[in-house]
Amino acid sequence: MTAGKLSVRNPRTGEWDYEISVTSAGDIQHIVRSLRDEQVQWQARGAEERADCLRRFADEMMAEVGAIGDALAIDTGRTTFAQFEAIKSIELIRMWAERAGPILSDAACSGQSGQVPTVHYQHRLIPYSVVAVISPWNVPLLLAMIDSIAALSAGCAVILKPSEVTPRFIVPLQRALDRVPELAAVIHIVTGGPDTGRAMIDEVDAVCFTGSVRTGRQVSQQAAACFIPAFLELGGKDPAVILRDADLSFAARAIIRSAIGMTGQACQSLERIYCHEAVSESFTGELVALLKELTLTCSENGSGDIAPLIFERQVDTIQAQVDDALARGATCLLGGEAVRAGGIWYPPTVISGVTHDMLIMQEETFGPVIPIITFRDLEQAITLANDSTFGLSAAVFSADEMAAMAVAERLEVGAISINDASLTGIVNDVEKNSFRASGMGGSRMGPAGLTRFLRKRALLIQTAEPAAIQLFSDQAREVSQ
Ligand code: NAD
Repeated sequence: MTAGKLSVRNPRTGEWDYEISVTSAGDIQHIVRSLRDEQVQWQARGAEERADCLRRFADEMMAEVGAIGDALAIDTGRTTFAQFEAIKSIELIRMWAERAGPILSDAACSGQSGQVPTVHYQHRLIPYSVVAVISPWNVPLLLAMIDSIAALSAGCAVILKPSEVTPRFIVPLQRALDRVPELAAVIHIVTGGPDTGRAMIDEVDAVCFTGSVRTGRQVSQQAAACFIPAFLELGGKDPAVILRDADLSFAARAIIRSAIGMTGQACQSLERIYCHEAVSESFTGELVALLKELTLTCSENGSGDIAPLIFERQVDTIQAQVDDALARGATCLLGGEAVRAGGIWYPPTVISGVTHDMLIMQEETFGPVIPIITFRDLEQAITLANDSTFGLSAAVFSADEMAAMAVAERLEVGAISINDASLTGIVNDVEKNSFRASGMGGSRMGPAGLTRFLRKRALLIQTAEPAAIQLFSDQAREVSQ
């Protein structure tokens, strides 16, 4: 690493084979000043013109989709998902290009006060001038775009800092951006680590942060000191509740896709399984049998089901949690130890006999580990599922949809997949909030994903005579005899 540079590790080879420069606090001040100037014209363009710029950007990204996917594949060690992520990001841009106009015109309503009917009002939507977007390494492009595109659609300018762990997509993304100069003027991508992130918060009018609870707390404290809103999307420890009548094969497949599919490196990965005791043996048997068929991608040709861990140090967190569970009496039914072959792979791991005093049931794992607890009745299942500091999302499985819904209604989380898992990973147009330590601020999904970047200014028009000067004068009261 040289001064002002950060080295980047390739998760497949374990080699530090890439570098980014660190954007300094001075540079950030300069960039934000320029964004603040450019935002005025961007806002004035109106929703339709902004949408046109976004459509052109989506087309330019499509022209770079191969290069973006390749860059993501190197940084994440995932090939198929990297292409999916690039395409999904382009779809997201197109979605906001279509939806922003109608959402903005709905929000800019006018009418008559119900309380004082002579007062008519009009709303003006005032976007935050410059929004900082700070994103994590697990889904590097999509999580960088998800807040940025909505903020741009709302008329804000954006300063974006993707994670320093997975920054290679920035070069082809910037190429696409440069071909849409109107947009390139109002979104600036910077590189660096925590210091760059902190410097951004000091300069902007709102901050969107996706990352760990630990950093999220620091971001929200700094934002509070700067008196700006912070929209936080943080970690999770998502539970799945499997009722006695659930289709176990169905549940096992959905849970594996959620918990293992991205090597467990997703905020909405299922990390706690509560299974009815009458079916837990069959469920566990089915789960383990299916998992045994999965292979790691550390083979010579790189094919397989489970990609390496992206972030080197994550293996220590995973192993500490697994070791703690086993030391306290849990049983490892599958996996449990990392495989090192240049990069670090963690095999699908199933642990039974876990209890809530174990780290594996308390802290985010962010790895392909499935701990299972059996329950006797629904009250116990709901109590256990709610016994967490997190509240991101959950899943419930039952043949009886109403029974599943009844459980879902009582879970202290922001989104519940019924008879599937992690649906928030693919459904971006339905509003949901994060509960407890999993986040704060308006929904990033659905219409609120855009309206949270706007303040409403009300123009209040009196259509009758203003109230009399004496409205609040104290009159001498008549003394009753
Ligand atoms: P992280 O908190 O370590 O870092 C996230 C980003 O914040 C990075 O860009 C980093 O450089 C920056 N940063 C670090 N310290 C900062 C500071 N003090 N001020 C400003 N910026 C700072 O998170 P990570 O390890 O990159 O990501 C993994 C975490 O993200 C997991 O906890 C995961 O659950 C969470 N996550 C949440 C969601 C969600 O939607 N809720 C989605 C994906 C990931």
